[in-house]
Amino acid sequence: MTPANKVRQQFFAEFKEEAAFIVRAPGRVNLIGEHTDYNDGFVFPMAIDRATWIALRPRDDNKVFAISIDMDDRRDFALDDLRRPAEVDWLAYLTGVAWSLRERGYALRGWEGVVSGDVPIGSGLSSSAALELAAARAFQCVSGFEWDAAEMALACQRAENNWLGVNCGIMDQMISAAGIEDRALLIDCRSLETSTAPLPAGAAVVILDTGTRRGLVDSEYNERRAQCEAAARHFGIAALRDIDLETFERRVHELDPLMRKRARHVISENERTLQAREVMDAGDAAALGKLMIESHISLRDDFEVSSAALDAIVDCANAEAACYGARMTGAGFGGCAVALVEADEAGAFSEQVAANYQAATGNQPALYVSKASRGAETVFAAG
Ligand code: ADP
Ligand code: MG
Repeated sequence: MTPANKVRQQFFAEFKEEAAFIVRAPGRVNLIGEHTDYNDGFVFPMAIDRATWIALRPRDDNKVFAISIDMDDRRDFALDDLRRPAEVDWLAYLTGVAWSLRERGYALRGWEGVVSGDVPIGSGLSSSAALELAAARAFQCVSGFEWDAAEMALACQRAENNWLGVNCGIMDQMISAAGIEDRALLIDCRSLETSTAPLPAGAAVVILDTGTRRGLVDSEYNERRAQCEAAARHFGIAALRDIDLETFERRVHELDPLMRKRARHVISENERTLQAREVMDAGDAAALGKLMIESHISLRDDFEVSSAALDAIVDCANAEAACYGARMTGAGFGGCAVALVEADEAGAFSEQVAANYQAATGNQPALYVSKASRGAETVFAAG
C-alpha cells in the first residue's frame, strides 16, 4: 500500500472520519556538489519520489497528537509546553519543528493525525528532513500562515541543528521544501539563492544503497572542515568558494600536500557543480554523467571520504553500458551512491548492478529508481 493510502485509512480507522488535510514532503538525493556546503559553495540535489505523509485534522486545545505507523507509536505534546527530549526519537522532529516555527513568530494551532512514509530511514536520503517538512506543512494547514519554502527550510534546519543537535547544512530541508518535478535544484549555500535545471530527457536517476553505514564520520567530518578552513585562511579568503581553479593551481605549491588535495576537491567540485547546470540546461546526459564520475574520483582520491563499498558499487554501475556516470553521494564512508542511466534500461541496470555488487562484496544493496518530485505540499484539503 502507498503511504498516502496508509495514512488516509489509518486516520479513518482512528478518528472515524476522513482526514481534513493530507500533506507530504520528499526525501532527496544530491546529484553533485559534495562537501561544498560548508565551504559556502554549491549543491545540486533533487527531491526523490519517496516521501513522508501525514493525514490530519485540527485540534482546539493547543495539543498535537500523532500516530507513527512506521514506529508503531502514538504520542502527544502541548504547544505551550515544548520540551527538548532527553533522547532523540521521532516525536522530537515534531516538537522541534513546532519550537522552531514558534521561535520565528508563527502562531501555531494543534492537530492530530497519522504519519508514515517510504523514504528509507537512516539511509542518507534524508527521511529526517522529509518528516520535518511534512510537520511544517501540517502546522501550516491548521494554522493558516503563508507557506514560504525557503523560510520553512530554514525553520526546519534550525530544528535539526538546535533542537535535535544535528549539525547539518541547508540542503536537505531546502530541497524537501522546494523540489520541482523532473528538475534538480541548484542551491548557492552562501546566498541561499536557488535555481532549477531539467534532468536530461531519457535519463533516470538510480540510487544505490551500499547497505553499509558510516562509522567515525563526525571526527572525519570535523577534520575535513578544519582543513578547508585552514586552506581558505591561507589564501586570505572567506571560504574556498572564493577561489577559482586556475588561481588555485598557480598557488597550489604554497600548501602542504594533504591540504592541497582537500582544497582541490572543494574548488573543483564547485566548478563541476556549476558546469552540471550548464550541461543539464543543454540536455546532455553524457556530459552530466562524466561530471559525476569526476566528482567521485575527486571525493575518493583528493577528499578521501569514499569507502571500499562505495567504490565497489560505483565501479559496478560505471561498468554497465547504460550508465552515464555514478558517484558516491552524501557525507561518505558508507551509505548511498547515485547513478545517471538510460531510462529504458534503469530496471535491468539495477538488477545487474545489485547482483554484481553483492557478488563482489557480500553486502546486500538496495536500489531505487527515482523521478525528481515536487517539494512539500498539501495534497488534499477538505472543503
Ligand atoms: P536520514 O538519513 O534518513 O535522514 P536520520 O538519522 O537523520 O536519517 O533520521 C532518521 C530519524 O528520523 C528516524 O530515526 C526517526 O526518528 C525519524 N523519522 C524519519 N522518517 C520517519 C517516519 N516515516 N516516521 C517516524 N519517524 C521518522
Ligand atoms: Mg537526516
